[in-house]
Parts: sequence; structure tokens; C-alpha cells
Amino acid sequence: MNNGAYNPYQHAQAQFDQVAELVKLDETTRQLLRQPMREYHFLIPVHMDDGSTKVFRGFRVQHNDARGPAKGGIRFHPQETADTVRALAMWMTWKCAVVDIPLGGGKGGVICDPRSLTDSEQERLCRGWVRQVAKNVGPWNDVPAPDVMTNSKHMLWMLDEFETIHGGRFPGFITGKPVGMGGSLGRTEATGYGVVYTIREALNDQGIDIKNTSASMQGFGNVSQYAARLYQELGGTVISTCCWDNNDSKAYAYVNRNGLDIDQLCSITDLYGGIDKTKAQDLGYEVYPARAWLEQDVDILIPAALENQITKDTVGKISPKVKIIAEGANGPTTPEADEVLKQRGIFVIPDFLANAGGVTCSYFEQVQSNANFYWEKDEVLSKLDIKMTSAFKAVNDLAKRNNLYMRDAAYVISINRVAQAVKMRGWV
Ligand code: NAD
Repeated sequence: MNNGAYNPYQHAQAQFDQVAELVKLDETTRQLLRQPMREYHFLIPVHMDDGSTKVFRGFRVQHNDARGPAKGGIRFHPQETADTVRALAMWMTWKCAVVDIPLGGGKGGVICDPRSLTDSEQERLCRGWVRQVAKNVGPWNDVPAPDVMTNSKHMLWMLDEFETIHGGRFPGFITGKPVGMGGSLGRTEATGYGVVYTIREALNDQGIDIKNTSASMQGFGNVSQYAARLYQELGGTVISTCCWDNNDSKAYAYVNRNGLDIDQLCSITDLYGGIDKTKAQDLGYEVYPARAWLEQDVDILIPAALENQITKDTVGKISPKVKIIAEGANGPTTPEADEVLKQRGIFVIPDFLANAGGVTCSYFEQVQSNANFYWEKDEVLSKLDIKMTSAFKAVNDLAKRNNLYMRDAAYVISINRVAQAVKMRGWV
């Protein structure tokens, strides 16, 4: 989704170019990695319930699969663009590489508004998407997953279509399936918990007791709810969150300086992570304009809603008390704002490291599906903790050793791993 002039693909390429220069990457490898290797753009005709036929535009982008099958979600959104899908596919390559899972980067999408489609129309759209790319995706070359406005129901329709076309059972084709139908336990918690595992390690490293810290977040959806839960279980205090109010069609920040009661707040949160401001007021929350979430005097900020939120216009509002920003969302900080954070010495846990818990658990789902053997939730979460902790430590160690900003250190690790894979394969 583009917000005004913001172009996520340019954002992703600018980040790549900067680090390619830093690691003195050769020109051919730069060319290969700064754009997707393969893109599929296609039309999906869908028979609507009223007897008409509508034509939707779909995409699948495989940025790089040198380290393993491409991996990435499928978004259904009216403002979806090819450039958004390209950027997200590229970020997936770095994300899988930084947590060292044997997968590449992909992303898909359809320009549509699923909220205006019936269930049967959505099913035909999902099946139509798979028919267009069935030969180019699959457990061994590209593994899709849910993303913005797609869910486990869509994944199962897609799996069923893929299996019908290829004749067999291939549960490793897609992740985000319902538990009991090939899904993994722990996937719901994975991204939010992963964000907190990295915060826990950052605080340990800085000698700060999590019990003496407070946080403010943007979002109260899947990522932020589970991040808030685990962070509070470990002793921290979330004092504020910001989310959408469907009645007012705008976002607000909700503040309780004694700490959010997550169960209570969940009880007034809709399926999409929206909160009705009057219900929050009734529960005693102070309500402020949306931007107040990043103006709080807290130790930690967790942007976990949207891209393009910490910008040159908003970065100056961040309190001097803030020590850590853990990016739960993809692309919440623009390159200009990043420069300011660097100069201020704020410790940033970059998106493709902080929120990699989701894809790591999706990888676990794929492993379980391919083996047709499913693990207990504790086993999934402890494997997730090990992966996230070791990825955080590798990036943090490199950042310290070479005096690098955390985002740059994470990029250096990812880009070097992918560059090494394309070289070892003899592609360059
Ligand atoms: P979600 O849809 O469950 O929640 C989104 C939250 O953002 C909701 O609380 C919503 O009210 C809020 N929001 C929407 N518009 C807003 C606005 N204008 N201002 C403030 N708040 C607004 O989404 P999610 O799954 O929690 O994902 C959040 C972010 O994390 C996205 O950037 C997503 O790409 C990224 N991410 C998610 C996962 C995952 O596993 N869910 C994995 C990696 C990255």
C-alpha cells in the first residue's frame, strides 16, 4: 500500500544500496540482489455470485531463492501495487537470511477488497490465484502464507486447489493453515513473542532489568497483542497503544500509565485489532490523537501496525528517554528518520530481525507438514526462542565489533549470506 509519495520498493532498494556499498559488493551481485529474479503478473477472472464476472489483478514476486524456496505471504488489498509486493519480497529474502532459515524471499498479492466479496467469491479468487501460478510455486520452489487480509481459510482453499491440480497431498505447499489441518501450534504467538525475545536480549546486553522498563506500541493486532502479553509477563509495563477505531474511521492512542490490562483491552478489540474509543474511555483509558503513541516517555517503542510511521516529520517527537525501538511492523521507519535515530544513538532492532518470528514459525510449519509430524506448542516456542536469540546475538555482536548501526549490521549478515549462496551456486 502506498501512502502518498512513499514507495516501499525505493525504500528497500535504498537500504540495500547503502549496505552493498558498505560491504563493497561486486556490481553483478548488486544487480542480481537489488531487484526480484522473477515476477508473475496475471489476471484472475472470478464468477461473482450475481452472475457477472470480475477480473482481478494478481502478483507473485520471487526476489531470490538461492538459499532455498521463496517464502512470503499473499496480501489482498485494494491499494496493492507491484512495487509494494517487490519491496516485501526483498525484505523476506533478508529476513529469512538473518534468522538463517533455508528459504528465500517471495511475496504475492491481489488488488481487491475482500471485505466486499462473499465467502464463495473469495474462494474462487483464491483458487484462481493458484491456477495462475501453480507451476511456479510449491513446497520445493515457493511457499506462500497469509498476510494482510488473508487468513487460514484462504490458505486451505489455495492448498486444495494446488493439490487438485498436481494430484496428491502437498501440505508443505503453503503455511498459515489451520491447526489440525497442517498448521503449527505457536504460529499465532510467534511474531509478537519473537519481537519480545529480541527486546529481552537487547535489555540483557545493556544491563537493564526488564522489570524497570516501560513501552509504548502502535497497533493492537496479532503482533502487538502477543508482544504486549509476553513483555508484561516478563515484568515490563506497556503504558500505551494506538489503533484504529472503526466508528470514527481514524486511529487513537490509548494510555494507562499503570500499564495496559491486555485481557481487558482484548475484550473490547474487534477481529481486525480495532478499538472503539468510547469503550476504552469507559474503562478509564486516556485517549489521545494517534501520534501520541510515539511521544510517550518510555524506554521502548514498538511500532507494530503499519509502514512509514517514523518519518522525518515524526521522529523529532520521540522522547529522549527512549532507548530501544523494536520494529514489529515491516518498514515503519523511513531512511531519513533512520539517520536521525542513528545520530541519537537509539538502539533499533530492525524489522526484518525483530518480526522474523512469524516466518521462522512458518518454516517450522513447513518442516512439520513435509514430515507429516507435528510438534507440541512448547517445543515450537522454545525452538523459536533459540532461533531469534541466536539471530539477535549474531547481529548485535557484529554491530559492536564493527561499530555498525543495528539495521546495517543485520543487512550485512543477510546480504553476505545471500551473496555467498548465489556465488556458491555459480550464478555470478
Ligand atoms: P493486524 O491486522 O492484526 O493489526 C494491525 C493493527 O494496526 C490493528 O490494531 C489496527 O487497528 C492498527 N492500525 C491500522 N491502521 C492504523 C493506523 N492508521 N494507525 C494506527 N494503527 C492502525 O496486523 P498484524 O498481523 O499485527 O501486523 C502488524 C504489522 O506487522 C504489519 O506491518 C505486518 O506486515 C507486520 N508483520 C506481521 C507478521 C505476522 O505474523 N502477523 C509477521 C511479520 C510482520
